[in-house]
Amino acid sequence: MDSYDVVVIGAGNAGLTTAASLAQKGVSVLVCERHNIPGGCATSFVRGRFEFEIALHQLSGMGTPEYPGPLRNLFASLGVLDKLEFIEMTDLYRVVVPGVIDVTLKPNREQIVRELSKRFPKEKDAIERFFDLIYRFFMELITAAGRKGADPPTREEFPLYFGYLFKNAQEVLDEHFTDPYLKLVIAAYWPYAGLPPRLLSFSYLAGMLFGYIEFKPYHVLGGSQAMSNALADVILGNGGEIRYNCPVTKIVMKDGRAAGVVTEDGRTVPARYVVSNAFRANTYLDLLDPDEVDPSVINGLRGKSVGPSAVCVYMGFDCEPDELGITESSNFIYPDADMDKAYDQMRSLSTAGNAMMLSCYDKMHPDFSPKGSCQAALVNLKYTDPWLRVEPHRYFEEKFKWADVMLKDAEKVFPALRDHIEEIDISTPLTHMRYLGHIQGAIYGFDQFMKDQPPFVTPKSPIAGLLETGASISGGGFQPTLENGAKVARVILRDMGA
Ligand SMILES: Cc1cc2nc3c(=O)[nH]c(=O)nc-3n(C[C@H](O)[C@H](O)[C@H](O)COP(=O)(O)OP(=O)(O)OC[C@H]3O[C@@H](n4cnc5c(N)ncnc54)[C@H](O)[C@@H]3O)c2cc1C
Repeated sequence: MDSYDVVVIGAGNAGLTTAASLAQKGVSVLVCERHNIPGGCATSFVRGRFEFEIALHQLSGMGTPEYPGPLRNLFASLGVLDKLEFIEMTDLYRVVVPGVIDVTLKPNREQIVRELSKRFPKEKDAIERFFDLIYRFFMELITAAGRKGADPPTREEFPLYFGYLFKNAQEVLDEHFTDPYLKLVIAAYWPYAGLPPRLLSFSYLAGMLFGYIEFKPYHVLGGSQAMSNALADVILGNGGEIRYNCPVTKIVMKDGRAAGVVTEDGRTVPARYVVSNAFRANTYLDLLDPDEVDPSVINGLRGKSVGPSAVCVYMGFDCEPDELGITESSNFIYPDADMDKAYDQMRSLSTAGNAMMLSCYDKMHPDFSPKGSCQAALVNLKYTDPWLRVEPHRYFEEKFKWADVMLKDAEKVFPALRDHIEEIDISTPLTHMRYLGHIQGAIYGFDQFMKDQPPFVTPKSPIAGLLETGASISGGGFQPTLENGAKVARVILRDMGA
């Protein structure tokens, strides 16, 4: 029977960086992945002559070679930086409320302040104050979070950190601005967190704005699949193993410690450590017996709610983006300025008033699609509950109805879309459930309410030998999950004394 130092359940972003970091250090590692390709959300699929990106819209945390961000450093340390072509995006985003407002922001603080002040001249001073606050708050947050042990941060030293850490984003927007459309444009990134400003901490919104402005949004040629493949190559190139089509059905416990896994074909794989990149609730409810799990863990899960999934429409067009009127790669399309109403729509199958994003990858790099063509994805965040209530025989009807609704909304901004579609496919929350195996097909883990964010969350599993990683631990998104995977590897290496 083969045995390993570490078995990783799942080859999502986090599982891959854990395994790659460990393999690089000579640790024997096996990754068991239920799908037939690496990446989890970070994958692609092919229809006709198009390879469609599933998940990545804007990679955060890269920074430039001269001013590297944490993700660039991580990729460099894993040896994949030179194997991938990262593309700096020239737009932060375009926000459109059809017939009302249309604003494009560049990833540059001065340009943003200038553009917003031009559009909302009465609020010029407040715009300057708001971005000043974001920068100063974030600097205090980073410094305060770095403080250790006997030298805790004080309110005197860090007035903005203490003053704003517990505020929600809406409160801070309301403190500064009166025009609801200005608030919408500044908070346009809220779907990346899955919660509207009223439910989102100010620090989360500030972090997204600061991160994307300072370190710029990026994409990667070949899409996120290229990134996942490169990480898989690091694992294999350093003697690690990956088994695809290999769902783990059980975590083996021995003397109160995780001691390996059982795979669907009935094989037992012993290991000193088990890392789960599965959704946290799946780890404890499906992969462990109830009597192996401390009741406090189950109570902890009861206190959380599963975050949203999404309906996505992937489209390949027989023309270049310009012919479709697509001028920017990242476009947020909102029905109006009411972000709470748009959030409520995420819990319903009612077709009016949905918020959407359209990403056009060929605006970043012409090689994303074959010459003379382009591709775009429409994403509408949706909780899974209403989709689970759709009767099976009505599923396809509902799915196609949604594609039609989303296309109609997108056509208010890009009227020629439908005339040029060559390939189209649709995913719903049930698709994400099936491919990821996560409870409710969640793409960002649990809802990131203020109580669920660091510094309130502990990364430790209560079971010896078991570590957890991925969106349901770190929060959703590429940067958090990739970094979290590497962090888990460091914890194991420390524990092994390596
Ligand atoms: C449509 C969409 C758009 C998105 N847009 C963005 C974006 O623009 N920017 C951004 O930062 N983030 C975005 N995200 C979110 C981001 O992709 C995810 O949060 C992140 O990739 C999750 O990584 P993870 O490590 O948690 O693993 P996951 O991607 O959740 O993968 C987990 C892996 O574990 C495997 N697995 C689960 N259970 C088992 C088991 N029992 N046995 C074996 N294998 C198992 C699954 O098959 C899967 O491969 C988007 C996601 C989607 C779907």
